[in-house]
Amino acid sequence: MNQPLTLFEKIWTSHVILEEEGEALVRVDLALIHEGSFHAFRVLDEAKRPVARPMQVYAFADHYVPSTGRDRGAAGVADAGLREMLALLEKNTARFDIKLFGLNDEHQGILHVVPPELGMTQPGLIVAGQDSHSCTHGALGAWALGMGASEMTHVLATQAAWLRKPGTMRIALDGAPTAGVTPKDIILAVIAKIGAAGANEHVIEYAGSTVAALSMEARMTVCNMSVEAGARSGLVAPDDTTYAYLEGKQYAPRGAAWQEALAYWKTLPTDPGARYDREVKIDVAQLSPMVTWGISPEHAAPVTGTAPDPDAAPDANKRAETQTALEYMGLAPGASLLGIPVDHVFIGSCTNGRIEDLREAAEVARRGRAVVPAWVVPGSAGVKRQAEKEGLADVFRKAGFEWRDPGCSMCSAYNGDELQPGQRCASTTNRNFRGRQGRGVRTHLMSPAMAAAAAITGRLTDVREFMKA
Ligand code: SF4
Repeated sequence: MNQPLTLFEKIWTSHVILEEEGEALVRVDLALIHEGSFHAFRVLDEAKRPVARPMQVYAFADHYVPSTGRDRGAAGVADAGLREMLALLEKNTARFDIKLFGLNDEHQGILHVVPPELGMTQPGLIVAGQDSHSCTHGALGAWALGMGASEMTHVLATQAAWLRKPGTMRIALDGAPTAGVTPKDIILAVIAKIGAAGANEHVIEYAGSTVAALSMEARMTVCNMSVEAGARSGLVAPDDTTYAYLEGKQYAPRGAAWQEALAYWKTLPTDPGARYDREVKIDVAQLSPMVTWGISPEHAAPVTGTAPDPDAAPDANKRAETQTALEYMGLAPGASLLGIPVDHVFIGSCTNGRIEDLREAAEVARRGRAVVPAWVVPGSAGVKRQAEKEGLADVFRKAGFEWRDPGCSMCSAYNGDELQPGQRCASTTNRNFRGRQGRGVRTHLMSPAMAAAAAITGRLTDVREFMKA
């Protein structure tokens, strides 16, 4: 009898071309690039090498696109440097015949939002993305990992990558979330529990009754932040939710090919008796809405909690880390998280810029009016159209939120959407690192519902207060 394998091991084994000195050359099925790919193309040019499989590469204008003025096309990009990067992406993709979802494409959007939306990301694939949060695609049962410029150059030249096989880790999420607890709260609670290095050199498989009941978009939010726990990705076994999500999408197989794909996908879930290198269990029913207080996603606590006291840290390193985080965030040890004033709210990104996220935020936005600037930036043009069709854009506008154009925007601030030093942002993004949203800016990560509540009160707020109304 064959040895039982985990989902990840099945994907790995089916993609290995050769093994050498502890590493393996693995086939890459899908490569996803953005404006920052110009380095890779320059290296290819210097080596006089073409792109090996342009049909398996997709490019996205997302990191550097403006979130307003898009009706003017490239002329709406005020910064000459950013305009040049977009032009380079167009030029490089055109000369290598790579499909580009450019500035005015009907499917323009973030490279982790558009491929699942169009059915490109499928179970069993290896997806290499030019961004750390490529792990988002793992929600569909793919092994998806972020790559730096030199690794991506290798992928473009060969459609393969040299990788060290990571360990396997199962995170069992069981129990029904209580009111106000969203997928974002679940993943923040996971990272707070295991730490920012808690899954180093492992691939996380999320399992358990909570995961089985999550929608595909909710699974994407959970998988998206796997890298914030140090993981080499996060994935969820494909099931009926996955198949229903993919069926009929533009890039999904059809007819006999669909039946063939389905039969293969059903062989992928982890075999009974397969062993993981590590296992963690979390009772989701015990979780509360979460918010970060520091400068790592690991610095998260229930919104009803307090900023920690460095003196209570278990060792000198943690004490220093906590001290530094509190100083940067301008918080005193023991300060209540509820009521911390915010200057700005950002709802969007590849973590929380999908339609379900905007529905969740709009539910809260309907109950009041923003008292601080609050931006809603859809993850893709498709999400934007759908939100407008459902009347969500009108809900946001009526509540005083700014309805913007799709892209990464204030997640990384590469496009110039940044705040001023010392300003505090309630944000649905995935990183609260120092300076991520502008030099000296203080970021508090939270769910879309919590961010909308913060917009209405101007303070960190327990969204459950809005549910009583
Ligand atoms: S939204 Fe943020 S994390 Fe996601 S792809 Fe864009 S910059 Fe990267």
